[in-house]
Amino acid sequence: MERDSGHAALDEAARRAHAYLEGLGERRVSPSPAALARLAELAHPLPAAGTDPTEIIRRLDDLGSPATVASNGGRFFGFVFGGALPATIAAGWLATAWDQNACFRSASPIAAALEDVALGWIGDVLGLPAGFGGAFVTGATMANFSGLAAARHALLARLGWDVEANGLFGAPELRVVVGEEVHVSLLKALAMLGLGRDRVIRVPVDRQGRMRPEALPPLDGRTIVCIQAGNVNTGAFDPAAAVCAPARAAGAWVHVDGAFGLWALATPALAGPTDGIVAADSWATDGHKWLNVPYDSGIVLVRRPETLRAAMAATAAYLAIGTAEREPALYTPESSRRARGVEIWAALLSLGRDGIADLVERCCGHARAFAAGLEAAGFEILNDVVLNQVLVSFGTPERTLSVIARLQADGVAWCGGTVWQGRTAMRISVSGWATTAADVERALDAILDAARSTVRPA
Ligand SMILES: *Cc1c(COP(=O)(O)O)cnc(C)c1O
Repeated sequence: MERDSGHAALDEAARRAHAYLEGLGERRVSPSPAALARLAELAHPLPAAGTDPTEIIRRLDDLGSPATVASNGGRFFGFVFGGALPATIAAGWLATAWDQNACFRSASPIAAALEDVALGWIGDVLGLPAGFGGAFVTGATMANFSGLAAARHALLARLGWDVEANGLFGAPELRVVVGEEVHVSLLKALAMLGLGRDRVIRVPVDRQGRMRPEALPPLDGRTIVCIQAGNVNTGAFDPAAAVCAPARAAGAWVHVDGAFGLWALATPALAGPTDGIVAADSWATDGHKWLNVPYDSGIVLVRRPETLRAAMAATAAYLAIGTAEREPALYTPESSRRARGVEIWAALLSLGRDGIADLVERCCGHARAFAAGLEAAGFEILNDVVLNQVLVSFGTPERTLSVIARLQADGVAWCGGTVWQGRTAMRISVSGWATTAADVERALDAILDAARSTVRPA
């Protein structure tokens, strides 16, 4: 393949990416049925001869861009996604051109250096304890997995068992305590670690989904307690201070699933709900949600880095790993890995300390505006809007589901559905940097239009 045609493809991609991003504010949030129908054109046999890179980019944009969901725009409120800050997209382009393998310092000094710096900044922004460590993984699922692997190592090592060498057969039993509202990805991580998704002790929760600390079982040095910072439905926080104090006294390990909510630590405005979180032993969070970096990007953080290293390290003579500095691959489940620290570094630098707090507070403000507008129109808000999540009911489950379907089909905004403590609800999550007050107004209008159109005339 000619180098020149590769460069032309880069220019073509940049030009088309500009056009895509510039049109994002006005395009449909969900793709049109016509755009989806055209995806069938992709399904042809692989040609015998190669295709010119520029032609590939043209085809990708013509067929692909219209079939994207505008989750990087200002009116996508589904799941808890978040967009991608301009600096992170641009940094990601350059880093893709570098094509670095971030596994070892020797394979990419720049990737390792950016990870070091980004980790330090994250610790500073979140207020993590001195000496903490961490690693950059694909998402909060793998961050939960990695934090829990560190926990499994630490507790079993203290009981004289080398779990990495000997596995779990014959090992002393560990207990895992979770809240009734635990995220499925945490249960999946437990399953992958041999700790079992159903072998957990589930602690009852209150109306907001917060673990009731008075219902905790007795804790000891064989117990991993998993708490949550940011419930995917309500945004509520488990009472970290009330869990961490007895857990610490008993020698138990506390892991925090803070996929999006951990970023609330960046603002004093949320000091109440986040109180005590930094007293935990490990934390999982996402870059690709509230920090608004491109996929895929998760971060595991641990109070004692040696526990994560013991769980993840693998060495071989040819790897020639240094010992003085942090070797990324000794802390991650992956070996070869893209340099995703680049985008995290770019996001932190582009926002600055104040910008991170402002992003979090702005999204929370938008969520409160949604709740106020919907309540004023006579609809029931099912949660205390303490963070960026709003749950609204439009009456019967059937009506709520048809409002959601209508909204999604209209394409002005996008919200998903959920069932919260037996009630069917529309779930609104504000996690994107691009959302403005005008976007919230337009989305509110679209939701109220959808609600009006689902009322059948008597
Ligand atoms: C999104 C989310 C996860 C899973 O994160 P991924 O990045 O999708 O792997 C875990 N826990 C919570 C609370 C989440 O919101």
